[in-house]
Amino acid sequence: MTRLRETDKSHRLGTRAIHAGRIDDPLAGAIMPPVYQTSTYRQEGLGLHKGYEYGRTHNPTREALERNVASLEGGDYGFAFASGLAALDTVIKMFRSGDHFVCGDNLYGGSMRLMVRVYEAMGLEFSFVDMRDVNNVARAMKPTTRMVYCETPTNPMMFLADLAAVGDLCQARGTIFAVDNTFATPIFQRPLSFGAHLVLHSTTKYLNGHSDMVGGILVTNRDDLAERIGFLQNAAGGVPGPWDCWLALRGTKTLPLRMKQHDASGRAIAQWLTTHPKVQRVYYPGLTSHPQHELAKRQMSGFGGMISFEVGDVELARRIFAATKIFSLAESLGGVESLIGHPASQTHAAVPVAMRQAMGLTDSLVRLSVGVEETADLIEDLDRAIR
Ligand SMILES: *Cc1c(COP(=O)(O)O)cnc(C)c1O
Repeated sequence: MTRLRETDKSHRLGTRAIHAGRIDDPLAGAIMPPVYQTSTYRQEGLGLHKGYEYGRTHNPTREALERNVASLEGGDYGFAFASGLAALDTVIKMFRSGDHFVCGDNLYGGSMRLMVRVYEAMGLEFSFVDMRDVNNVARAMKPTTRMVYCETPTNPMMFLADLAAVGDLCQARGTIFAVDNTFATPIFQRPLSFGAHLVLHSTTKYLNGHSDMVGGILVTNRDDLAERIGFLQNAAGGVPGPWDCWLALRGTKTLPLRMKQHDASGRAIAQWLTTHPKVQRVYYPGLTSHPQHELAKRQMSGFGGMISFEVGDVELARRIFAATKIFSLAESLGGVESLIGHPASQTHAAVPVAMRQAMGLTDSLVRLSVGVEETADLIEDLDRAIR
């Protein structure tokens, strides 16, 4: 269980990104955290050690990452995992057969698959509701509801959940409120400050930002949840290796800088797409035409680089995927390089067709992860591909 030190909580976000979680290396004074590539630690005598006994339980590089991300989210504890889904798996394992969860209906496809295909079979119960309206959450709650789980903005429909409203509801009912903050990142949205108890990230995405590792992290400010998650992290062992932690930690140092550029290009490209004759609809919370733009401005300080748009024609979508030169056709998101994707057959293939259609996730929906290249080059690339 990694708890923040007081020094991890000082200074502003941009400074914390670089300094929170720092290791003071006693051997050489290394500025960068060493990669503690070790499975075990020498003990001075029986029961005499420096707090490190075995690599699944403790690793200093992993702790540095956990402290860094927890600091950015404004939490007291961080727990790193081998993937975002391993983090979610641990969240669900806190509960037991008969417990009920209310979740957003536009979750990341893999999250929904884990809930429905793995945990429903073990007797846990999930309701998936449109979280754009907090009343849908309230209506779905039962006496057995133990957790509300949401993503905002969602992937790829950019639906928003009102974090303060859901936070108040959960507070009144004594229900745990967990938020997957992978899309917005703590640079633009801090769910704990709106009443969430638990924040989840796929560090694979923006936090690492360089598309060279897979990982996940949980952050909480509740002692009881930290106790349980720490136990499960060690008991089930879905931990990341030290190298991947080091890569993620290198990524978070530039997170504030990268997010500024993702956001600047995201806004410019979303706006440009709205003027394109072949584009029927653009989904981006930073557009004044987004139905929840006012909410977006209240709970987010930036809108990032994720954009979806509807071209209304599967053949045109196929041609766009084949024609872009800077945007690579690939799954995933949040890296420095721009990606283009097809949610219906990639990230959301695991979501039932009827559910996809009901929310507007069509076969002609195109999703962009806008990287940090020059904005003008990205627009030219899309313009040529769409024409
Ligand atoms: C990718 C992703 C996940 C899953 O994370 P992995 O690291 O791929 O296991 C969960 N939630 C969101 C929003 C994601 O984009």
